[in-house]
Amino acid sequence: MDVFKPMDISDNSQEEVIESVEKVRCLIIGSGPAGYTAAIYASRANLKPVLYTGLQMGGQLTTTTEVENYPGYPDGITGPVMMDDFKKQAERFGADIRFGIATDADFSSVPHKITIDGSKLVEADTVIISTGATAKYLGIEAEQKYAGMGVSACATCDGFFYKGKDVAVVGGGDTAAEEATYLAGLCRKVYMIVRRDVLRASKAMQERVMNTSNIEILWQHQAVDLFGENGVEGATLVKKKGTPHEEIVKIKIDGFFLAIGHTPNSEVFSKFIDTDEVGYIKTVPGTSKTNVPGVFAAGDVQDPHYRQAVTAAGSGCMAAIDAERYLAETGD
Ligand code: FAD
Ligand code: NAP
Repeated sequence: MDVFKPMDISDNSQEEVIESVEKVRCLIIGSGPAGYTAAIYASRANLKPVLYTGLQMGGQLTTTTEVENYPGYPDGITGPVMMDDFKKQAERFGADIRFGIATDADFSSVPHKITIDGSKLVEADTVIISTGATAKYLGIEAEQKYAGMGVSACATCDGFFYKGKDVAVVGGGDTAAEEATYLAGLCRKVYMIVRRDVLRASKAMQERVMNTSNIEILWQHQAVDLFGENGVEGATLVKKKGTPHEEIVKIKIDGFFLAIGHTPNSEVFSKFIDTDEVGYIKTVPGTSKTNVPGVFAAGDVQDPHYRQAVTAAGSGCMAAIDAERYLAETGD
């Protein structure tokens, strides 16, 4: 697993010079499971979709090794191979897949206008936003060093590899509580590394954590380093950092799970598209529709709860069907 840091595309201070304009029926932004699945369905519905991959062609799964929970692969598959299969399947039906980053959006009138790489204007009858969400990391060097060797930001994805072992979860919110409880069902011991002396998680989640005997909360601890020869073998923590009672604590663990939040990649669209306070795009429940007619959202960028490949793919399918029906209704 790698630690992916998205390029800062929020800086629009540089003047954009439009060099070309193109009209498309369906523009898909992002090449993870949601975007590629939308491309499969949209091309089979003859919407002639154009998909821009963004910087990370294939999305988050290209940064992981084994994917064992995606249906249809009984022996598991590596993330990069799986995403290449998605791409090939979309191309087989004629999806036009291009490398490029959406750098600006104007949804104030139809057709919708998206700027690619600061220089190419795409005018689209329908837009499917499937730009994913990026897990937050602490920013310590060891996260990079042990990427794929004990560091993970997804317990549902990687927890299985730590069956019967000792692990730590960083964070005190609902995600951390949920991940710690999930891991407690698989692992021998789970440390929760919490920087304050309270949990941010909801009361119900807190109770679940407190009632799980193999979870130990390390209050007022912060992880500053990891150690180990061929993978994570332990973490160095600082207790009560910055106080006169500051103390170095070392714990032995095999897995180090980050659960300190995600950043949905929605900023480019946020002038026009409604999001929650974190930045997740709001969709009409049970659909992929955003507040702007003709603009749909799929995958992690609109999903604060599940964030799985299969749910992303499912919502990509929904977005393509919603786009197709929208075009049929508007006569475009
Ligand atoms: P992503 O996969 O995040 O793809 C987003 C796409 O949008 C990328 O192609 C990116 O380049 C593009 N993009 C972003 N901004 C722009 C822009 N401005 N312009 C154009 N393109 C843009 N889930 C599982 O179900 N099973 C697993 O085993 C599993 N393992 C995981 C392991 C790791 C290390 C990680 C990080 C996640 C894992 N997940 C797993 C979660 C899974 O990867 C995500 O739920 C899924 O990839 C979300 O799909 P998505 O299509 O919404 O977005
Ligand atoms: P969150 O609520 O923002 O919590 C993040 C946690 O990580 C906080 O405890 C925070 O500590 C800690 N943290 C942040 N940066 C840190 C750092 N650099 N070092 C150490 N700790 C750090 O994020 P979330 O838990 O992902 O939840 C996001 C939203 O989704 C919330 O609204 C949540 O309720 C919701 N959610 C709900 C459920 C559910 O209902 N089942 C499940 C998951 C998520 P501080 O508290 O000190 O700031």
